[in-house]
Amino acid sequence: MEGKQDVAEGSEALTSPYVLEYTYRRSLGPVVGRFLTGLREGRIEGVRTASGRVLVPPTEYDPESGAAVGDFVSVGVSGVVQTWSWVSEPRKGQPLDRPFAWALIKLDGADTALLHAVDAPSADAMRSGMRVTVRWRAERVGSIHDIACFVPGDEVQAAEPVAPAEPVRRMKSPVHMDFTIGAGRTLSRFLEGVVQGKLLGRRCPTCAKVYVPPKGACPTCGVPFADEVVVSDTGTVTSFCIVNVPFEGQTMKLPYTYGSVLLDGADIPILHLISGIPADEVRMGLRVKAEWLPEGERQPTLASIRWFAPTGEADAPYESYAEHQ
Ligand SMILES: [Zn+2]
Repeated sequence: MEGKQDVAEGSEALTSPYVLEYTYRRSLGPVVGRFLTGLREGRIEGVRTASGRVLVPPTEYDPESGAAVGDFVSVGVSGVVQTWSWVSEPRKGQPLDRPFAWALIKLDGADTALLHAVDAPSADAMRSGMRVTVRWRAERVGSIHDIACFVPGDEVQAAEPVAPAEPVRRMKSPVHMDFTIGAGRTLSRFLEGVVQGKLLGRRCPTCAKVYVPPKGACPTCGVPFADEVVVSDTGTVTSFCIVNVPFEGQTMKLPYTYGSVLLDGADIPILHLISGIPADEVRMGLRVKAEWLPEGERQPTLASIRWFAPTGEADAPYESYAEHQ
């Protein structure tokens, strides 16, 4: 998993572009594996159910009865558009980089429709009931993308041969989400404070608890927060975990410690890195202080605090943080 966060300042509330992406590697099983192997070889195969329907793309079980499916059958590379939707602004990673249609296509010999792209000159050239034909990709690897797209008409283009290879058993399935998150006014104010090296909390007028980072209203009492309070950047470790497991995108050297830090003056702990002390010496009650990035390097994000490091004070008594651990 990979995340990226660059916070940009807006007029009132901060927003941040955000990318979340990760790649699944999944095994395909005998049915989908054979379907994708067929695509690599320039052939489209479906499966026949007990009632004689031909499913393309194939499923492992008949969706109507749940019974195992039977024989594989080759179907045509041309078919009929059942329904479609026009994409006027294609996004990165879509089958075509120019406007195209997503369409449900019932191939000749199939009883179900396959979702794929149709390369049509404009939306005016699309209609339900039109005939379309596969355009194969020259280099095929055993993926749905081996079908580059469908094109209007019945003119069949032969698939260029590819070198024989093992049946397809696994596939990579990338997930990519690209979006903008809004911090909202309360959190934006907090993040602006972080740039100045201040930790701003908000106090609930009913229960008097101080939340850091603040929310718009008290989650317990449901009333809007009133006073803004500056809380200390020194606090007490109330609980922690030691990370020993490597994962993709990790930036810290193992082992390292993540902890809940109850800042002096706050009633809710924040989560942050605990450093400046061997991982096996971190303990509940440890007194720590924020290690800030130099002023010019601070951004409106909690990463402006490098980590929390021990102050050298005596540990806080258990009773002082017992309800926060
Ligand atoms: Zn409250």
